[in-house]
Amino acid sequence: MVPYKHEALTDFSKEENKKAFQEALKKVEAELGKKYDLIIGGEHISTNEKITSINPGKKDQVIGVVSKANKELAEKAMQTALETFESWRKWPARLRADILFRAAAIVRRRKHEFSAWLVYEAGKPWAEADGDVAEAIDFMEYYGRQMLRIDKGVECLAEEGEHNEMYYKPMGVGVVIPPWNFPLAIMCGMTVSAVVTGNTVLLKPASNTPVIAAKFMEVLEEAGLPAGVVNFIPGSGSEVGDYLVDHPKTRFVSFTGSRDVGTRIYERAAKVQDGQVWLKRVVAEMGGKDTIVVDKDADLELAAESIVYAAFGYAGQKCSACSRAVIHEDVYDEVLKRSAEIAEGLTVGDPKDGNYMGPVIDKAAFDKISSYIDIAKQEGKIVFGGEVDESKGFYIQPTIVADLSPEARLMKEEIFGPVVAFCKVKDFDEALEVANNTDYALTGSVITKNREHIARAHRDFHVGNLYINRGCTGSVVGYQPFGGFKMSGTDAKAGGPAYLQNFLEAKTYTERL
Ligand code: NAP
Ligand code: MG
Repeated sequence: MVPYKHEALTDFSKEENKKAFQEALKKVEAELGKKYDLIIGGEHISTNEKITSINPGKKDQVIGVVSKANKELAEKAMQTALETFESWRKWPARLRADILFRAAAIVRRRKHEFSAWLVYEAGKPWAEADGDVAEAIDFMEYYGRQMLRIDKGVECLAEEGEHNEMYYKPMGVGVVIPPWNFPLAIMCGMTVSAVVTGNTVLLKPASNTPVIAAKFMEVLEEAGLPAGVVNFIPGSGSEVGDYLVDHPKTRFVSFTGSRDVGTRIYERAAKVQDGQVWLKRVVAEMGGKDTIVVDKDADLELAAESIVYAAFGYAGQKCSACSRAVIHEDVYDEVLKRSAEIAEGLTVGDPKDGNYMGPVIDKAAFDKISSYIDIAKQEGKIVFGGEVDESKGFYIQPTIVADLSPEARLMKEEIFGPVVAFCKVKDFDEALEVANNTDYALTGSVITKNREHIARAHRDFHVGNLYINRGCTGSVVGYQPFGGFKMSGTDAKAGGPAYLQNFLEAKTYTERL
């Protein structure tokens, strides 16, 4: 097996790449507005109720019209997945992994095309879309390889005259509920991890981005995934989601999204239903309120760049986005000033035209972020941005808010938009205290030249993913396994060597010889 590094990102400063991407945008634009069916056991089913997916940067552009599942169809999908599990679980791990490698190859060949779908459906700027597709490829390559490793079993000790082993086996039907913010990468990673481990899946994509998920279903089919292994059932989170989370035959739920929905799923899944003979497993990866700490002795240019790009990449709509900058008082003014200067150079507009920042995902997000900008005016001082415009799409300027108290709402609540809160502290102790003062603990960075402070952050900065002297976004599959503590979730560490075990159970086998 060829060793795997990670998928390279596209250099859009090269004219030939730019041209190829523009062609992909054109190709996909001609395919917008099509209809997509549910897929249950390989059967395409069209329903009367539809989800209309629109371009958040250009509200009148329809990306696709997707059939919506109801409870009856969710039940049909469950029965199909239960049946299919009986054959799929017997497939050798190798052959299951091969399907991931083939799907990765298909996406790689059509990389720009997939990125273009993300530009239209999720409002992703080119580079963000390219990164999303690269991550999807990485998940498939990585989980395929991890499955081959896990399939070798675990070494156990043995007395003479006895043979012991422990191996991992598939669990059953999993409900996969991804978010819209990495609509290809996270949706793909959550789906293929459940599948390569021998489970069957009910995939309920996020209602903002069902078309990219439908395109991925085409890839799985082309790659040779048997019918019924992944059943595609777009629909309302509250209707289909609750029904399947509660279902007695659901073996596990793999969720990534907001804290509210994640805690709801965790609670509901804990209840043992009539006829249920196991405890459901729940992987719930949730929100963040991520901090970049800037120390007194630090590269201040690096600090400002790290803050700005981690705060405004994909309009701050990453669970890892920097939403708080906690800065030593001696360097606060300079980092704030420099951050505003860098933000000034960012272009905002239709991501199709190559702007740095596009829209936020929908009207609800636009309204929520706008309301936080109003709160910002009371709690602190807006030193950059603050303007919003929903005439054509859901656009919000990159917004820097200064002089917030550690207890301000802007410092505590997940906004999930292009708004970063600056807070001044008197020393490194206070910086860590403020950094740890939210309910979340997902990512964080420290910009410093002080080795002792680095050691303290290593020990005491309580986040699932800690970065030193770089921004807090952009984890790479296999390099920075991803997942947070506290209300950021179950710390499943997606893209890490222990992730697949979430969807497997370990069986110990002993034979007297
Ligand atoms: P969300 O509103 O919680 O939605 C996530 C998924 O849950 C969607 O598919 C949604 O369906 C579904 N859902 C809604 N209600 C449900 C219910 N009652 N039962 C079952 N499923 C239900 O989150 P989002 O707005 O898509 O994503 C943003 C959030 O995700 C942020 O908080 C972000 O920090 C977090 N996130 C975390 C990570 C991580 O790794 N920790 C990664 C990415 C994002 P509908 O679309 O139909 O409502
Ligand atoms: Mg949502």
